[in-house]
Amino acid sequence: MVAVGHPVAARIGLDILNRGGSAVDAAIAMQMVLTLVEPQSSGIGGGGFLLHYAAANDRLDSYDGREKAPAAARSDMFLGTDGQPLPFMEAMPGGLSVGVPGVVRMLEMAHREHGRLPWRDLFAPAIALAEQVFDISPQLAAKIAADEILARQPSTRSYFFDSTGKPLAAGARLTNPALAQSLRAIAAGGADAFYQGAIAADIVTAVTTAQPRRGQMTLDDLANYAAQKRPVPCLDYRDSKVCSMGPPSSGGLAVLQILGHLRRFDMAALPPDSSAAMHLIAEASRLAFADRERYVGDPDFAQVTVDRLLAPEYLSARAAEIDPRKSMGEAKPGRPADAALLGSSPSRPLLPEPLSTSHMVIIDRDGNAVSFTTTIEGAFGAHIMAGGFLLNNELTDFAFAPAAKGRPAANRVEAGKRPRSSMAPVLVFDRQSGALTAALGSPGGSNIIGYVTQALIGLIDWRLDPYSAIAAPHVLNRNGPTIIEAEQGLEKLAAELETMGHKVKVQELNSGANVIVVRDGQLIGASDPRREGVALGD
Ligand code: GLU
Repeated sequence: MVAVGHPVAARIGLDILNRGGSAVDAAIAMQMVLTLVEPQSSGIGGGGFLLHYAAANDRLDSYDGREKAPAAARSDMFLGTDGQPLPFMEAMPGGLSVGVPGVVRMLEMAHREHGRLPWRDLFAPAIALAEQVFDISPQLAAKIAADEILARQPSTRSYFFDSTGKPLAAGARLTNPALAQSLRAIAAGGADAFYQGAIAADIVTAVTTAQPRRGQMTLDDLANYAAQKRPVPCLDYRDSKVCSMGPPSSGGLAVLQILGHLRRFDMAALPPDSSAAMHLIAEASRLAFADRERYVGDPDFAQVTVDRLLAPEYLSARAAEIDPRKSMGEAKPGRPADAALLGSSPSRPLLPEPLSTSHMVIIDRDGNAVSFTTTIEGAFGAHIMAGGFLLNNELTDFAFAPAAKGRPAANRVEAGKRPRSSMAPVLVFDRQSGALTAALGSPGGSNIIGYVTQALIGLIDWRLDPYSAIAAPHVLNRNGPTIIEAEQGLEKLAAELETMGHKVKVQELNSGANVIVVRDGQLIGASDPRREGVALGD
């Protein structure tokens, strides 16, 4: 079974599984197709985090394909001439925000360890679609029409608009020979064909000549990129062991911390749509977000004390700060032993939420599982293209201000560093039998943390079916106002939450979760109704 952000990708992923391909094989084929059919969200010009479970030897691996800052990047690169952080919309378009892409190198690494079909075969479906024809989906068409920058940048204007300058509409048929050529080269030459040679040269030219701001990426930056395996943090929650991605993502760690704070409370006894449940989730989230800002950055640059941040004594002490009747207001970071004294790296505001990033889950016939979140950061990334694909704007996930309150920010820009992410691919196991019980994740920027946590509570505490667990209305807190998803029937909780001291905001949200649950030997998949994904199985 596969569950992924676009139906065409799902059909191709399932076909790969039916041809004897492994979960990783399907992930690679689907990523290549998403580059073409869901270009606003992810692609080979971006990065991602992939969690893999190998059933035969009960092994869990996490692969870090996060983009890196070029060697020329400096901590003040997102400050204006006045010394103040640039507005996001000024920093994002063009070359300055582009990180060295990581996804191709990472997928090659995962394929060496867990692939079954030849690498080259995994590219054929995407090449055929790019050469023949594919349809613009309704959400892609809506994004093209709504995007203010796309029409101004030459490479995206010629691709996403017709010859009269009109945005391509839903159902418009398109080919992408440049991408077909790039994919052919990578199929034949492996990741080296992306990181060296013609594609690398194209990327460097696009980044260093871009308007309105140029970046300083070099051929060496690309040639030197390496994907990495990282330790996999896990936490016991009720009858489950929940595992996710560690730093440089803050996502997995925050999800696990929130669950850790909630162990003190009997969530199963509270109705899923009650203010009591939402209050506890919001408060537990505040604590995790406060730690995230203070302590999490690229672990290759400053140690992130994951074990301390997930230690049972630490989490219980933090959970004791939660009052079931009253909001604590803004949470302060905790003091895990040995924590480095770093300044905070606040999240930027996320209003409105971009329809970017994609999450896919796959379970193959042998029980191997992939949970993979992949992104080019904002919708359409940096709004520049090379080799037929969009380049990411992942560097804007760094803190723009290099320091806070006199201390260097954990997530400040540094040469060769990976920006902090919120992506949280998750795999869940039964604590007693050790069997895999669920694979899930979602896009949504820093809201990913809330989306994934809520889905886990839905599955584990409330025993919801997978669709209900991800379709349920969202209530989020990033250590600020409590956000209630608009038009999903939970606005009625606003008054009660305000009485408990929450500042409430109602807004539209765009999660895009994909999930597969294993129950009684059956696979049950579901895709978030807020996006265009689908689950397909045999
Ligand atoms: N760039 C974000 C991150 O890595 C993901 C963006 C999104 O989900 O929209 O956390």
